[in-house]
Amino acid sequence: MEIIDFHTHYIKKEMLNPTWLNFLEAINPEFYARADDFSHHPELFTAYLKTQGVKYAVVLPECAPATSGFVPTEEVIEYCRGQEMLIPFTSLNPNVHPDPAAKLEFQVKESGIKGLKLHPSYQFFYPNEARLYPLYAKSQELRIPVIFHIGSSIFKGTKLKYCDPIYLDDLAVDFPDLKIIMAHSGRGFWYDECFSLSRLHKNVYMDITGLPPQNLLSYFPDLEKNSEKVLFGSDWPTMPTGIAKNIEAIKSLPLSNRTIETILFKNAYRILFE
Ligand SMILES: [Zn+2]
Repeated sequence: MEIIDFHTHYIKKEMLNPTWLNFLEAINPEFYARADDFSHHPELFTAYLKTQGVKYAVVLPECAPATSGFVPTEEVIEYCRGQEMLIPFTSLNPNVHPDPAAKLEFQVKESGIKGLKLHPSYQFFYPNEARLYPLYAKSQELRIPVIFHIGSSIFKGTKLKYCDPIYLDDLAVDFPDLKIIMAHSGRGFWYDECFSLSRLHKNVYMDITGLPPQNLLSYFPDLEKNSEKVLFGSDWPTMPTGIAKNIEAIKSLPLSNRTIETILFKNAYRILFE
């Protein structure tokens, strides 16, 4: 079975805030010790992905200087250049970038960016604010999927109110062709809301990044019914085990093979490549 990991992070220690660095060191000391090697050598990462059975991985930058850190999109573009397995996304921040729609268009056309990550609770905006609408219109026009961080976080400075999934309902109505992905599926507070929104709207998806796979069916008892709207992501390297262990845990859930394949590969493939 082929696998797409829809949520991995490009890590450069000097660009992350202490809150993330300390967490990373505690949760994945093995990676932490080799972080500099990984950040300089993308082929180390692609070799690792192959050992885990992953065919493609979305690689995320992070423009959230007030909370998690500032990992520029340009570095991620460089990192992924020439690496067929690595799919670079951009991180734009409406409180940092004066014209995010123009920046998105430039990055898509000049640098092959395949998607956008937004972080309402780290960057401090409500997803349905009017100032974001030109960015969504551009994303829809360019067929660029948008990942929103939707769920709790231990990072200092996080303001959770901004990632209440209800604010995505406006976007789903106003931009019906925009692919909206709720990263972490509402972790901690909003599992039911995320599940309902993804059932309700044709182009709203949930990713299960950072959720213990063995708990998925207690968070989402009807997961099987919503298999077309669920994506696998690992949050690598911010995870306690290897990616393959997560994949195995998902495969061992009482779900049909078809559902498992749809979650681990097909949905992501459709969003990224069709
Ligand atoms: Zn993440």
